[in-house]
Amino acid sequence: MKLSFHGAAQGVTGSCHLLECAGHRILIDCGLFQGSRHLSETNSAPFGFDPADIDILLLTHAHLDHCGRIPLLVKRGFKEEIITTSATRDLAKLIMMDSAHIQEEDAEHASRRLRRHGHAQVEPLYDELDVLGALDFFGRNATYDQSIQLNEHMTARFINAGHILGSASIVIDAIEDGQSRRIVFSGDLGNMGHPVLIDQSPPPKADYVVMETTYGDRLHKSSEDSVVELFDAIRQTLARGGNAIIPTFALERAQEILFHLKKGIESGELPSSLPVFLDSPMAVSATKIFRQHTEAFRPEIRDEMLAGNDPFQLPQLKFTRQVSDSVAINNIKGGAVIMAGSGMCTGGRIRHHLKHNIWRPESSIIFVGFAAQGTLARKIIDGAKEVRMYGENIQVKAHIHTINGFSAHADQKELLDWLDFTGHPKTTFLVHGEPDKGMAKMREKLKERGLAFICPADHQEVDLLEETGPLL
Ligand code: ZN
Repeated sequence: MKLSFHGAAQGVTGSCHLLECAGHRILIDCGLFQGSRHLSETNSAPFGFDPADIDILLLTHAHLDHCGRIPLLVKRGFKEEIITTSATRDLAKLIMMDSAHIQEEDAEHASRRLRRHGHAQVEPLYDELDVLGALDFFGRNATYDQSIQLNEHMTARFINAGHILGSASIVIDAIEDGQSRRIVFSGDLGNMGHPVLIDQSPPPKADYVVMETTYGDRLHKSSEDSVVELFDAIRQTLARGGNAIIPTFALERAQEILFHLKKGIESGELPSSLPVFLDSPMAVSATKIFRQHTEAFRPEIRDEMLAGNDPFQLPQLKFTRQVSDSVAINNIKGGAVIMAGSGMCTGGRIRHHLKHNIWRPESSIIFVGFAAQGTLARKIIDGAKEVRMYGENIQVKAHIHTINGFSAHADQKELLDWLDFTGHPKTTFLVHGEPDKGMAKMREKLKERGLAFICPADHQEVDLLEETGPLL
């Protein structure tokens, strides 16, 4: 019985873990590496196993760093069943299609340059046809807390991870040579108290745990304080006669912000005539998928929804898919909330809205999510006086707000609380974190508690029938 790590080892992205038991090979997640050019290039490298040898793929959730290499896995020979929750299946289709589109555009861009110099063209990692091919392998739907027989030696159980719609931790019971082991894969764990989605379920006692450590070095501010900050920022902007621009991720954060705005209007904290634009085709599609999965909603929100009160519908909300509608928003000089992607301002329609508002002292840019080093969002947050967009240097005069309390990830305390439920695992494998940040802090915390852990290296393999792993 072996466990090996083929992504998110000593890093955040590219989650992909392989569990082998009695000749069966089960893959947990197959995510894309994201971030630096070097990481992006890792995507085309060999997986570290033969995709044709994998018997089943279990998918924890639909974020790209967990599902983004699935079309490539299929392209390289995987032909078996993919099991996940029905909400994750719907969202993963959207995310993988969008990814294919970007891969095709990037390859075309690179090819044009190479052709000019007489070189062969670049193939995309995968294209939309590969995604359609991959969707054919999505088989049984997992329901939270119900056991699924994977083969005669292994069962899997998906439990709610409370991270994004449809997200799960996965509990696998495996038997080899009469010895049984329970392995829990955390997937990504949610921040407690999401306004719409049900909180994570506690995991059971386990022999081994594979745990994410993204925010192992942080304690989140409360989301109530963040909502107050958000409303204040919007009201001040309206009073100055400007627009409030919110760069937002299409999946999860966009829906969460819509929900808060709706509550603000209902409570009278925001004007009922407030025009709100969700200018992101992907966010519009993701919001539709949310509405189809009320099973994941808190009971009171689900009841409201069934009674006809849609949690994401505001009186003056406009979804824009067409480019012409998006361009028309540029004519609005003040009084509107404009949400658009990408959240880190690296591309997408948000850049147009920044161009039209960032130089105006009456407008504001409100950041509600993570902004990685090197991105335009990070530059603005760090106080740049001028930014370069569309070949122009544009002055930053708008009010800049950074609201840190909205997070889809568990913080240090929540991670440790979650781990407590698993008892005293023989070994905890720390993955999905920056080695010098979240992962480093969790390493310290586990050491303090006398728990055995390993921070595996890429492609490292561990024998699970051994008693414990070394402290690394
Ligand atoms: Zn995630």
